[in-house]
Amino acid sequence: MSSAKYIFVTGGVTSSLGKGIISASLGKLLQARGFSVTIQKFDPYINIDPGTLNPYEHGECYVTDDGAETDLDLGHYERFLNEATSQANNITTGRIYNNVITKERKGEYLGKTVQVVPHITDEIKRNIFLLGDSGKYDFIITEIGGSVGDIESLPFVEAVRQVRWDLGSNNALVIHLTLIPYLSAAKELKTKPTQHSVKELLSYGIQPDILVCRTEHPLSIEIRKKLALFCNVNLNSVIEAIDADTIYDVPMLMRKEKLDERVLAKLKVTAKHEPDLEQWKVFLGKLKNPINEVTIGLVGKYVSLPDAYKSIAEAFIHAGAQNDCKVNLKWISSEDIHKDTVENILGGLNAVLVAPGFGERGLEGKIEAIKYVRENKIPFLGICLGMQCAVVEFARHVLHLSDASTTELNPKTKHPVIDMMEEQKKITNKGGTMRLGSYTCKIKKGTKAFHIYGDTTTIQERHRHRYEFNNKYLDQIEEAGLRAAGTNPETGLVEIVELKDHPWFVGVQYHPELKSTVQNPHPLFVKFVEAAMNNKKSSS
Ligand code: GLN
Repeated sequence: MSSAKYIFVTGGVTSSLGKGIISASLGKLLQARGFSVTIQKFDPYINIDPGTLNPYEHGECYVTDDGAETDLDLGHYERFLNEATSQANNITTGRIYNNVITKERKGEYLGKTVQVVPHITDEIKRNIFLLGDSGKYDFIITEIGGSVGDIESLPFVEAVRQVRWDLGSNNALVIHLTLIPYLSAAKELKTKPTQHSVKELLSYGIQPDILVCRTEHPLSIEIRKKLALFCNVNLNSVIEAIDADTIYDVPMLMRKEKLDERVLAKLKVTAKHEPDLEQWKVFLGKLKNPINEVTIGLVGKYVSLPDAYKSIAEAFIHAGAQNDCKVNLKWISSEDIHKDTVENILGGLNAVLVAPGFGERGLEGKIEAIKYVRENKIPFLGICLGMQCAVVEFARHVLHLSDASTTELNPKTKHPVIDMMEEQKKITNKGGTMRLGSYTCKIKKGTKAFHIYGDTTTIQERHRHRYEFNNKYLDQIEEAGLRAAGTNPETGLVEIVELKDHPWFVGVQYHPELKSTVQNPHPLFVKFVEAAMNNKKSSS
């Protein structure tokens, strides 16, 4: 294809309808037909990026290879498409305004009054076209965060209207995702909220081309006809999005509803071939027909909102399917763990993961949990803060440096086994200033990590942290049995630790969960689930 086609996904009626999953599913179907696709999200809040948002409110912050802190929907895009995203794939209102204001200060608009229309909308359009202009993609799917009608999303909706007008209906289309609520008293699905939502969109000058309707019950032909008639869309462009058992079913459901066919027809694109979803189906088959089952504890601070650990949970789904094993995650608040409770809480688990996190709360609980799994030889995976806690635990209880700590928890500790790097100490701004994005790690031959990664010595993994293993303690810690299996070749920073006399005890400074996809389940998760299965077998 010569130039990119643009697909916009807006939402109406309520939030949380799953625009991200619909976008990722459509992307998957187009990709499975041989097209190159990328998905982008615009978020209408003022933060420059979600890095400074509370995970309780906003879920996990997803980090890309280029070190962008982004919305968790980008994680879905990568998991579905098996394609890396970048900063260009997630733009917020804050970033748009920041760019415009920076240009204004540089004098790029000299003499002009800088306004929402055209300056903000032009900057939005520039960002829409950035990925298309790279020439790498046949389709750019742009998800507009929030719901139509929100004050915040207006400039984005206006930019979409302009792009559609500029490019014409063969090159740009709008999919509107709405909710068809079921009134149990009346035993009826209701179309009125969708009609209102489409009217609202029309009032901004946008006629949606395709309606995707979230529903708990199948849409009858009558309901489809009604929606088509009142919302001015073709009958075959009313797409049912029925609740699914797993998000990974959605591409198949969208295929059944012919969402991809409608998109291609409207954009006048000839399909290369039918979607090749063989691999996806194999994955679904394994996911739905497990032979084994394990229970793994996830010890973290934000366990009341599982979205805070979205990528970890999804990585377990990929790794479980790979092992034909159902992985039950037991979400454990680290604050509940102390000496008297640890046995009770962790006792029956097949493996334990200690999660990433920030701040002091619950850190001692994480350390207590690690002491327990280390001593009881329960498979352990520590991610980022989880790895740091493993080092602190080891220093305290094996090296007997009783006040050993991370300076994040105790800045005055005599034994800062985890400490901030000198460069980080100079930084005062909190946004976007951590060690972020992809870094190379060299793995020592013969280590467990070396085998886990399929006998490779060079890997790339993504980071998001300020504190590091303090190399002043490296020799001491290694001698006592916790060895640095992987380090950064340029800085010497420790990226992987593993315990010698333990069946499976690995801590990683990076976030392996961010690179696990349906097509490429992450080896650390795959082997960790395997270790949990082995542990279950040997203890039964
Ligand atoms: N709080 C720790 C740090 O900043 C760990 C961060 C994380 O787990 N992502 O280094």
